[in-house]
Amino acid sequence: MTLNTVKGFLDNIEAIELAKIASKCSALGPCLEIGTYCGKSALIIGEACKKTNNLLFTIDHHTGSEEHQLGQEYHDSELYDENVSSFNTLPEFLKNLKKSNLNNYILPLIGTSKELAKEWKLPLGMVFIDGGHSMEAALADYEYWYPHIVKNGYLLIHDVFPNPEDGGRPPYEIFCVAKKSKKFKNISLVKSLAVLKKIEI
Ligand code: SAH
Ligand code: MG
Repeated sequence: MTLNTVKGFLDNIEAIELAKIASKCSALGPCLEIGTYCGKSALIIGEACKKTNNLLFTIDHHTGSEEHQLGQEYHDSELYDENVSSFNTLPEFLKNLKKSNLNNYILPLIGTSKELAKEWKLPLGMVFIDGGHSMEAALADYEYWYPHIVKNGYLLIHDVFPNPEDGGRPPYEIFCVAKKSKKFKNISLVKSLAVLKKIEI
């Protein structure tokens, strides 16, 4: 299947960087993503995991972020499910997953990032944060998940806009928190995809 047919928010240059980092992680631990949506980034990371015999866990409650809700800027009426009177990306994601043949490498987790983090035990080679954009959601994603990244593992954050004119602040703010913690080394910023490497546990 071609990725261009998958609804989503990832740029092609960001996709290449995402695949590159994911392909470095197989010896470190599985990859984990917060924010599946319709599976665009999951299919990219999943393809890298297939090549390196690794796994991707991808988290989403599938009811959309604030900006996806009815009447909001990024609402997509094709993803509004009249049956449950809610935004619902799960059917579209499952359709894309089936077409991709990556089922053995992508494991969907249906739920809220914070709730799942509380039960999490497995060390991770990479965490990709692309979930809610409120300060509360972004900070929770960072604080609950970064401890699970192994030494030399990667933290990736999407929608990082150093210039406020380009977009909202919370993903950039958690990027700054990570840098200030001295636990991470800044590796790259490709468009709005920030890559950090964990140098201290
Ligand atoms: N990575 C996707 C885009 C993700 S959009 C791509 O490449 O296209 C952000 C997603 O995060 C939405 O689907 C939304 O439902 C989900 N989300 C927002 N807050 C969340 C939370 N607290 N827990 C789990 N998922 C969340
Ligand atoms: Mg994003």
